[in-house]
Amino acid sequence: MKIAIAGAGIGGLSAALALHARGFDVTVFEAAPQIGPLGVGINLLPHAVGVLSGLGLGDALAATAIETKELVFMNRFGREILTDARGIAAGYAHPQFSIHRGELQMILLAAANRALGADRIRPGHRLATFSQSGASVESRFVDPRGAAAGGFVSDVLVAADGIHSAVRAHFHPDEGMPKWNGITMWRGVTEGNPFLSGRSMVWAGWSAQKFVCYPISRPHADRGRSLINWIADLRTGSTEMLRRQLAHAQESAPPAPPRRRAAAKSGRRRPAVARRRRPPP
Ligand SMILES: Cc1cc2nc3c(=O)[nH]c(=O)nc-3n(C[C@H](O)[C@H](O)[C@H](O)COP(=O)(O)OP(=O)(O)OC[C@H]3O[C@@H](n4cnc5c(N)ncnc54)[C@H](O)[C@@H]3O)c2cc1C
Repeated sequence: MKIAIAGAGIGGLSAALALHARGFDVTVFEAAPQIGPLGVGINLLPHAVGVLSGLGLGDALAATAIETKELVFMNRFGREILTDARGIAAGYAHPQFSIHRGELQMILLAAANRALGADRIRPGHRLATFSQSGASVESRFVDPRGAAAGGFVSDVLVAADGIHSAVRAHFHPDEGMPKWNGITMWRGVTEGNPFLSGRSMVWAGWSAQKFVCYPISRPHADRGRSLINWIADLRTGSTEMLRRQLAHAQESAPPAPPRRRAAAKSGRRRPAVARRRRPPP
């Protein structure tokens, strides 16, 4: 059976490997002109690691990722509330891995190139439209400039084309954009010293204002360092909520340090928080 997959992200490449392992004839079409290691940290929970290990990727994941040992819940001042084991430490049959999303995608891509053959992964092919007739489906693609890039007939088309899926839009044309949950996330990766167990994930704060960080690189850990993925979440969805959060943050800010008071005496401007804390004249 011939299968076309739209999207060479984490889902598309994993599906390609799993379907190929079961004897299907698979070709993957990716919109991006090149498949590069994009993103920051992502977590593979034990059930996903079980699937990927079954596809022969367990060693590559272990050599690249951090095997997460625990999730430490903290308050926003960094005080521990609860520590919960993760992966093998929590009794699962497979570990939990924290990994750079781009590295994971490159592991999947290398495995797909080996298993399917490089000519079966086709970047620069954005699925534009498709139509079904009888027992087959014809997919039509455009290149990165929007010019026609040919068609492909298969028995099955698998939609793994991400959050703005063209296939989903075809089946649900009136659905509109995905609904935003009101949270804005700032995220990045910073090299630093290992913290806690060196395999700990930290969650600090609460649902509307949270900081999460965890290490994602085994090579960094092997040389005594840590590549730390961090995410700062803030509910910014309503301006009223944002106004209250900022007011609360200003109220609970610590008093201005002495250096700032000295600066005020010398006539320089002080931050608004410190000004508000002075008793009225
Ligand atoms: C560039 C990028 C960076 C990301 N970074 C992170 C991260 O740091 N942390 C995290 O937790 N999650 C990240 N994500 C999201 C995460 O990868 C997915 O939510 C999750 O892995 C589900 O995988 P997916 O295969 O369904 O979607 P994705 O991994 O989003 O992959 C979808 C793929 O389909 C391709 N595509 C889209 N439209 C078409 C089309 N019409 N035809 C053909 N191909 C198409 C996209 O280019 C992409 O390669 C990122 C996604 C992307 C695309």
